[in-house]
Amino acid sequence: VPSEEHLDLMQLSRHLDDAEQARLAGLTQHLQQTVRPAVIEPWNAEEFPDHLLPGLAALGLGETLVDGSSPLFQGLAHAAIARADVSLSALLGIHNELIIGTIQQLGSEDQRQRWLPRLRTLETIGAFCLTEPEHGSDIAGGLATSATLSDGEWRIRGSKRWIGAGTMADIALVWARDTADGQIKGFLVPTGTPGYRASTIHGKTGLRIMQNADVELDVTVPEDAILPGATSFSVTNHLLMSSRAWVGWQAVGAQQALFDIASGYARQREQFGTPLASFQLIQAALAQVAGNLAVSTALMGELSRLQEEGALTMLRASLAKATLTRLARESAAAAREILGGNGILSTHEIAKVAADIEALYTYEGTHSINMLIAGRELTGMSAFV
Ligand code: FAD
Repeated sequence: VPSEEHLDLMQLSRHLDDAEQARLAGLTQHLQQTVRPAVIEPWNAEEFPDHLLPGLAALGLGETLVDGSSPLFQGLAHAAIARADVSLSALLGIHNELIIGTIQQLGSEDQRQRWLPRLRTLETIGAFCLTEPEHGSDIAGGLATSATLSDGEWRIRGSKRWIGAGTMADIALVWARDTADGQIKGFLVPTGTPGYRASTIHGKTGLRIMQNADVELDVTVPEDAILPGATSFSVTNHLLMSSRAWVGWQAVGAQQALFDIASGYARQREQFGTPLASFQLIQAALAQVAGNLAVSTALMGELSRLQEEGALTMLRASLAKATLTRLARESAAAAREILGGNGILSTHEIAKVAADIEALYTYEGTHSINMLIAGRELTGMSAFV
């Protein structure tokens, strides 16, 4: 087993205070010992392991990422979750950043009091409903779900696709276009509302634990279901900027898992009478993963400092998301090769991590879209039509 030191070569955790270091160590231990071995079977069966949620809640993971701890702690905690399982880190990341974070920043006092306490303990799960069947990358201009206010009620109609936890969530944060002024606004829709219908998308080759859903909406909700602070797409975009940063941390955690698994295997498996780890080409592959991981970790460490100073920009977030998921993909190819045939076995962890990285590469804005956002910032010219 490689020392934890190799997984944090840039020694980012030394910047945490003693209490945060102890908390991170406790989290990592639970995630490695209890969660990691318990997710391989559900991943293959495309099932969500509900039984793990109380343990995660007991560790404070329902609110870890928004509870006032330092951005560096939040990032390293997020990486630790992704190291154990990328799907769970997607669920908890969306839950923390996009659901709790949005209600906290943009919700009314009533909405905060009604939803936050049970969200923080993971007794209530939220779904973030932005993408649509006909609009993914062009969602800002194309979003077609409509919201019409009449007689003190909003009628929201439309279809959403790829919605994480769409079938298991209690509350959906739905983005819809106000038919009165054409702006994209956010609404809190309890999933028990008549006219909310979600069906699981089966057959995903990555993030198989995460229950992504097609959601059909024809719901009527009270006037105060609207988030008072979420009244245009620029607000949504701002949320997506910080969520792109946590995808960077997911790429860190996924690469920690790759290094952990591949280096352990290379030491234990023998060919030609000697451990794989003694071969030059295997060492080069391990060094490539370790180098990508070190670069990813260092970049995210600096990004978390900038975040703390309020200096996270779209350019920085998009570059981090695109670059780190590209490096993670490269690391996945190198690491899985070290396992030979076992490297393409779905019941072996490495294939699971490699497949999950494909989803990181695509969601929260695809790799190309994040490169184009960065390109726009770098040149002042938009390549989007
Ligand atoms: P498209 O937009 O159709 O893109 C297809 C390809 O064309 C991509 O390679 C893209 O990069 C490229 N492309 C598009 N436009 C351009 C252009 N102008 N120039 C160059 N290339 C271009 N959404 C939610 O709202 N909530 C969720 O919880 C959620 N979870 C997700 C979980 C998973 C596992 C996945 C796969 C997706 C999730 N999404 C979610 C949706 C995700 O954000 C979209 O899949 C993503 O934005 C891409 O949209 P698309 O799949 O429609 O691809």
